Amino acid sequence: MDLKISGKTALVCASSKGLGRGCAEALAQAGCALIVNARTSGPLDEAADAIRTEHGVDVTAVAADIVDPEGRARVLDAAGDVDILVTNAGGPPPGYWTDWSRDDFIDALDAAMLTPIALMQALVPGMIERGWGRVVNITSRSVKAPLLPLGLSNSARAGLTGFVAGTSRQIAGKGVTINNLLPGVHDTAPIDGMDGAMAAQKGISRAEARKIRASTIPAGRYGDPGEFGKMCAFLCSQHAGYIVGQNIVVDGGETSTTI
Ligand code: NAP
Repeated sequence: MDLKISGKTALVCASSKGLGRGCAEALAQAGCALIVNARTSGPLDEAADAIRTEHGVDVTAVAADIVDPEGRARVLDAAGDVDILVTNAGGPPPGYWTDWSRDDFIDALDAAMLTPIALMQALVPGMIERGWGRVVNITSRSVKAPLLPLGLSNSARAGLTGFVAGTSRQIAGKGVTINNLLPGVHDTAPIDGMDGAMAAQKGISRAEARKIRASTIPAGRYGDPGEFGKMCAFLCSQHAGYIVGQNIVVDGGETSTTI
């Protein structure tokens, strides 16, 4: 399918690896010029080179912490006017609710709620002026059903979800859509790390830990960042202009809800 976004420019935050990288690859495949970002310049430059070579699009790499106001300002300066914004950053750490201080909550809110909002505040007005834009926020299935050790994520991401629910409807008539993509278990380094921890705890191999986790997912396997990215690219396409303020779970059926 031609997504009809060839020639558009997309800022994909936190995109040297994992789900952000999957989104960057799919948008590049659709013909978008990219601004990619991560904190660590080596892997980021490698990712930018690989995407440029594979898809033949312009790719600008900005090494910066997207959660830090100064880093975010550098990313926004390099990006200029973009048509498509994909927000992403590392997830808040696990823990137990009695352990978290106010500072822990502020850090989680900064990363998972206030940074995506600041990026939208910076870029969506220009999209509205030009009459077209797409925003996709990478959140988590924890927004639909809480992941018990991830209280910081459950709380902060719910805040972003509330913001998007109202704001997306305020601007839907201007040609700009905002939606959230909610990943389940995908084949990325943090999930591999969790498998390693489970393996050590249970005295089993990493492969066995993975098999156990995969067996809890109706699809029977982990998601692939590539297929996650293709969903993101569809939400950014011309064809998705009537999808507004939605929370789309990409989790192989793991979150068991009727709607
Ligand atoms: P990942 O494989 O570790 O990739 C994270 C990417 O983001 C890397 O490129 C990393 O590069 C960059 N990054 C992290 N923090 C950043 C920051 N502050 N500023 C700029 N770049 C940053 O992680 P992932 O699995 O794709 O997860 C992405 C998001 O989805 C996280 O919020 C995670 O909680 C959420 N999520 C993931 C899953 C899953 O199955 N993978 C499930 C639910 C939710 P640098 O380290 O060099 O900055």
